[in-house]
Amino acid sequence: MERSCDYFDEYNAMNPENKTDRAAWLQGPSAKCSKPGEVDSPWRLVLLGAPGVGKGTQASLLSERLGACHLSTGDVFRAAGGRPDCEQTPAMLAALEHMRHGELVPDSTVWEMVRERNGCLHCGGGFILDGFPRTLSQAEALRQHMANEKLALHAVVNYELPLEEIVARLSGRRTCKQCKAVFHITGQPPKKQGVCDHCGGALFQREDDRPESVQVRMEAYQKSTMPLIEFYSGLGLLMPVEATGTPEEICGRTVKALGVS
Ligand code: AMP
Repeated sequence: MERSCDYFDEYNAMNPENKTDRAAWLQGPSAKCSKPGEVDSPWRLVLLGAPGVGKGTQASLLSERLGACHLSTGDVFRAAGGRPDCEQTPAMLAALEHMRHGELVPDSTVWEMVRERNGCLHCGGGFILDGFPRTLSQAEALRQHMANEKLALHAVVNYELPLEEIVARLSGRRTCKQCKAVFHITGQPPKKQGVCDHCGGALFQREDDRPESVQVRMEAYQKSTMPLIEFYSGLGLLMPVEATGTPEEICGRTVKALGVS
């Protein structure tokens, strides 16, 4: 049965200029994508980098620039976390508990969630994976699945930034409850403290951006995600990009590295 969700309808109504529609990704496979943009050569990218390096912001800028759909696994978990417990599967409830503590969600749960959204991997506009894969086992599952589905990954962008800067970025990050826009208390403050510039929604600090969770997330990154750099380098797909400067500068560097004019 097709599900509907007021939040996503409202979001789409507020952002009519968006070329892509993430409802099917965020809500699950029974939701319909209303804007499956078709482009001649759709980009299929993976974004890597430590938590807080700005992958989400870059994914959203690149999505506008390239027309590819922004697929974030973290956003799926956060969207699920906003729904009542009675609508959750036991696996999702367990996943949300891991997320609250800054721990990685088990590979089997993450892969099941991505696999059932296979339609999004076939999006006519292409896709930008943000926050997935995060372990070697997820990367291998994705590689095999894409090979079976005859889909090619074009590049894996690895955003690089010194550790101290990453921690400062994470602890100052604030997210809009309504439209999910991201601000920073010093780097990119909203015009009015605690209020989103775009939709007037309340800004909050993500539970996993609190200091105790940041520590756990950085450890998980070092242990589980760093090996992906070698994995994708071995496949000849790795593209390092320096993540310093404004979001627009970083995006400019990325499209240049991709060879987009
Ligand atoms: P993110 O917004 O990408 O930082 O993800 C937020 C949280 O969701 C992470 O700290 C994990 O708990 C969980 N998560 C998101 N993507 C994955 C993944 N690919 N593997 C394991 N856990 C994930």
